[in-house]
Amino acid sequence: MTLIEYEAVPEVAVDPHPQRGTVVMKFGGTSVAGPERLRGVAKRLVSAHEGGNRVVAVLSAMGATTDELLSLAHQVSARPEPRELDMLISVGERISCALAAMAINDLGHRALSLTGSQAGIVTDTKHGKAKIVDVRARRIHESLDRDEIVLVAGFQGVSTEQDVTTLGRGGSDTTAVALAAALGADRCEIYTDVEGVFTADPRIVPGARKLHAVSYEEMLEMAASGAKVLQLRCVEFARNHGVTLHVRSTFADVEGTWIGEEDARMLEKAMIAGVTYETDEAVYEVEGADPAELFDTLADAGVNVDTVIQIDSALVFSAPPEDRRDAESALERLGAHWRERAGLGKVSVVGAGMKSHPGVAARAFTTLGELGVQSYFVSTSPIKIAFYVERADVEQTVKALHDAFDLADAAAARAHA
Ligand code: ASP
Ligand code: MG
Repeated sequence: MTLIEYEAVPEVAVDPHPQRGTVVMKFGGTSVAGPERLRGVAKRLVSAHEGGNRVVAVLSAMGATTDELLSLAHQVSARPEPRELDMLISVGERISCALAAMAINDLGHRALSLTGSQAGIVTDTKHGKAKIVDVRARRIHESLDRDEIVLVAGFQGVSTEQDVTTLGRGGSDTTAVALAAALGADRCEIYTDVEGVFTADPRIVPGARKLHAVSYEEMLEMAASGAKVLQLRCVEFARNHGVTLHVRSTFADVEGTWIGEEDARMLEKAMIAGVTYETDEAVYEVEGADPAELFDTLADAGVNVDTVIQIDSALVFSAPPEDRRDAESALERLGAHWRERAGLGKVSVVGAGMKSHPGVAARAFTTLGELGVQSYFVSTSPIKIAFYVERADVEQTVKALHDAFDLADAAAARAHA
């Protein structure tokens, strides 16, 4: 995590005297889309409270609210000021929390809704992708001590310069994990519109299976390579603070996917956890730039560089598509020769078992060969192989790799941790 001057304290001061029975429950946009669903969420929170827990809920904006607010901003201005954009898009989460608090009060329990700032979520000053640097949970504790259900607006905080910031798309997940860490919560439950983390996107691979257990490392790789179910920073945070996550459905009362430390039982059966993909990859080819200067400039612009390949004086790197505008202006500033290699997607095979089982690369390359799919370049980590392929080849590559590693096979399923 980036250190800033302000940060004399650890990034999150973990409560030295955690209260037993604290649970953080996060609900995503679909789970709160509409009055009926909000009342449903209120009921779930009330029953957790009746079960004797200190309940902290983190809510996302209702349905497509964040997208609508963004589109509104772009209808008004071609380049909205990042500070003002954050003032605007942080509103959606506040709406959900206020409404849920009303519904809880009607059920005869007391609730208190808080903005990120009121909840003590302090961030750095990078609008649109701020990082949490501190959680000052006093107000939450006081409210819990009064036996209230606390509702915290996700995705937002207050910067060290007192401005409202947002944490990047999907940022409510990170709010939830940061609170779970700071409050010493027993568990952090992420309620969503799917039943958990799957071996592949079920819309592409109908036989994809729900994973019962995934290690932090696998989940980090999966989130970084296209699994939309959790924000990447949330998984990083959970791993750094040892917060066990349970990703589960809002709409069905079944066990979901547990994310925690790697354990032998996870690897006994399936060495591969899943196949993920991205249909939009921003890949740049740069000629004749000094690498140190190039990556310095990109870092200053807040661009998260992913894969880097150097061949002689040519550099190829990828970055998240959201960072495209920042990356391009950084490359312009540098005055280097560059072009975007457009039209690429990425398909990744992820699994902790790769570390100890040879032959995964062989099987993956053979599968692409048999399909006749050409990969533009390949990047690997100890538990991932990622192929950059033409966007049009992404779907068939996902399907074929899922088959090649028998991921639909029930016998290969991992047991609950
Ligand atoms: N509402 C925000 C988004 O759509 C944050 C979140 O839901 O996690 O990205
Ligand atoms: Mg999300």
